[in-house]
Amino acid sequence: MNAKLIRNIWAVGRNYADHAREMKAEIPKSPMIFLKAGSCVETGSKIKIPAWSKDVHHELELAYWIDENLKLSHVSLALDLTARDAQAEAKAKGQPWTSAKSFTGACPLGSWVSLADIDTQEELQFQLIKNNEIVQSGYARDMIFNPEILLQHIKNHFPVMPSDLLLTGTPAGVASLKSGDVLQARLTAANRELLTCHWDVE
Ligand code: ZN
Repeated sequence: MNAKLIRNIWAVGRNYADHAREMKAEIPKSPMIFLKAGSCVETGSKIKIPAWSKDVHHELELAYWIDENLKLSHVSLALDLTARDAQAEAKAKGQPWTSAKSFTGACPLGSWVSLADIDTQEELQFQLIKNNEIVQSGYARDMIFNPEILLQHIKNHFPVMPSDLLLTGTPAGVASLKSGDVLQARLTAANRELLTCHWDVE
């Protein structure tokens, strides 16, 4: 589970209906996959906003570790940080999203919980607390495409490698980060605390 080994981050857009609605986007009929560079992963507690963006959004997501047998073995929480201004500009011009999604430090990542320790993934719940206020709240069961379907889909289409990461999309509540914000993320299953992450925005 060495984050330095991560090569590819397979991510999915609009995998929760409430987030698709807040983005005024259609609900996809098949998984909408995009890439973040593996080197975007940041396991420290600091978030750095790139100087060229005025609108970096938090997207809290369940993140899965792809093991040596290309199976999902562990779960964590990640922020799919997104420069929304750069993304809007790219969308308007019909250009790719790389600048919006793959800047340095664009994937803060927590520590890992073995899936063997979780009874049913359906019960996974996660929350992002920004400056003591709950701003995002999601349940794994609300995904449009569940993690196993996403894994099968990316294996059918792409050269998925051991130690890759799968990000499974964000629920509603995405918003801009500003310097000084204090973030806390929690992962629970049936009210059992599995993981807590803490990030400070520089
Ligand atoms: Zn996302």
